[in-house]
Amino acid sequence: MDPTHPTAPEDTQPVLSLFERSGALLRGHFLLTSGLHSQVYLQCALVLQNPANAEQLGRALAEEFRDERIDTVVAPAVGGIIVAHEVARALGARGLFTEREAGAMTFRRGFSLSPGERVLVVEDVVTTGGSTRETMDAVRQAGGVVVGAGSLVDRSGGAVDLGVRRTALVTLSVPTYDPADCPQCREGTPAVKPGSRK
Ligand SMILES: [Zn+2]
Repeated sequence: MDPTHPTAPEDTQPVLSLFERSGALLRGHFLLTSGLHSQVYLQCALVLQNPANAEQLGRALAEEFRDERIDTVVAPAVGGIIVAHEVARALGARGLFTEREAGAMTFRRGFSLSPGERVLVVEDVVTTGGSTRETMDAVRQAGGVVVGAGSLVDRSGGAVDLGVRRTALVTLSVPTYDPADCPQCREGTPAVKPGSRK
């Protein structure tokens, strides 16, 4: 498989083409938040800069959890904030976000959950599931019940298991590399943090 041309099931092609049209499917040598390297990066902010796109994607993700009586949608900042907001709008729920404080994902800004509150955790992109998992922990610590997890994109090929019902609008198999095994590192090109250069 050509690692710069991710494969996706047929029914997710419209969402993927929205990313393509928005210039949000980037090809290069990227350092991901997870510390892994990849030749493909999905810059969701470029899709979500158009509120009509954000609304459409939020509604599509919300549809998957329509029957779950979601009280509140929570996402990790910064990338998930707009996703949580739009999914919450579509579900008639609250939309909150967690932030890192001294390294730990936590609720700030006076956000709180009631005991037993039914929460959907959302993200823009799931790679390893790390930040979704941390957000789920923060929700449980705050007394909420995590009913499910959703993302616009799952680039783990569906491999990430979060222990709750999980869905993504697009599931891609995009190879990621430990820096020690990265073919582009071996060629000597430097990895860049996406968005760090124009
Ligand atoms: Zn590399």
